[in-house]
Amino acid sequence: MQNVVHAETRDAVRDLNGSLRTPNGIRFETWYEDFNRYAGDLYEGRYTRDYVKDLVEIGKEVRALAQAKGSLIVAHNYQYPELQEVALEVGDSLGLSQYVAQKQTERVDFCGVWFMGETAKTIVGDRAKVYMPDKPGCSLVESIDHERIKGWMAHNPEAVVISYINTDAKTKAMSDYICTSRNAAQVLQHAADTNPGRRILFLPDKYLGAVALAQSTVDHDRVDLYDGACHVHAKIGEDALETAFDRYPDAELLLHPECGCSTACLAKTASGSSPYGKSYFLSTEQMLRHAETSAAKEFVVGTEAGMLYRLRKLVPGKTFHPISFGAMCEYMKMNTLEKLRDSLEFDRIEVTIDPEVREGAQAAIQRMLTIH
Ligand code: SF4
Repeated sequence: MQNVVHAETRDAVRDLNGSLRTPNGIRFETWYEDFNRYAGDLYEGRYTRDYVKDLVEIGKEVRALAQAKGSLIVAHNYQYPELQEVALEVGDSLGLSQYVAQKQTERVDFCGVWFMGETAKTIVGDRAKVYMPDKPGCSLVESIDHERIKGWMAHNPEAVVISYINTDAKTKAMSDYICTSRNAAQVLQHAADTNPGRRILFLPDKYLGAVALAQSTVDHDRVDLYDGACHVHAKIGEDALETAFDRYPDAELLLHPECGCSTACLAKTASGSSPYGKSYFLSTEQMLRHAETSAAKEFVVGTEAGMLYRLRKLVPGKTFHPISFGAMCEYMKMNTLEKLRDSLEFDRIEVTIDPEVREGAQAAIQRMLTIH
């Protein structure tokens, strides 16, 4: 059984057989086998014996430093396996921020991209310092032009702005609601129902916006979709779907709604076209739940390929194929175990947010959390 150690355990512990396990439940001494078993094809040539030996030593230093500094390490699903293994919790961006918010800690080391660290800082406020191993950007966030949003708002003073959680703190502070890939349709529906007749701007991801619109009953004419996209998901096009169905005819397709193929896939699913009936639009956390409970034994995963490490590890006995081995986010991969160790040792990169911006961003997040 993989997960014998609960994720809340404060440090590496010994399992029932006396083996030293990291917080996520994998033994340091089996990192080489586990990384190659679950992620060898994703990161071809990365996990050599010598490299993993070095990683294990750094991993032990990281855990010792985290304990000495009272740090809560969390890692996003797309992070390298070694970062996921030294973290006390692994998940999506909102899930990690909510996890951090529940913990009595004065320090968080967040392994993800910058907007995620900002979201965590927005939620924890002055109660905890948030550090990151590096300062990775995000193409989706970079597609946002604040001046353009201000211009749209000036033309539509009564309108409602909904921002995806994958935005910087300043954009969140300009928004009425935040949404995630899990609840985008629900938030859109709520915003439309509680603000009758008012125009809505959904930003920044046009693919997620289109899926949310199609999954709601909101009049399309009321909604403006910003034309931003994540470069990793946008290049997962329709041809990738066709190839996946050809190669794995028995598999279910788990698609992140940010994917470039999502609108075409949604239309074909709605029209009942086979094999699109086996396609599901899911956030990364929903992918995990779906794979655990589905009767299917094989899945093609349409999101950043790093997600497969966690799926394969937590859902043994089922097979997961990436829709594309090229679906890797270079921003996410800027974080390394070495940088995390240095950050813990030297408090290198702290996330700070202007208090006024933080207050605005927090209000928009809070509004989302009250929608059921
Ligand atoms: S995969 Fe990378 S570029 Fe795309 S939204 Fe996530 S962090 Fe941004």
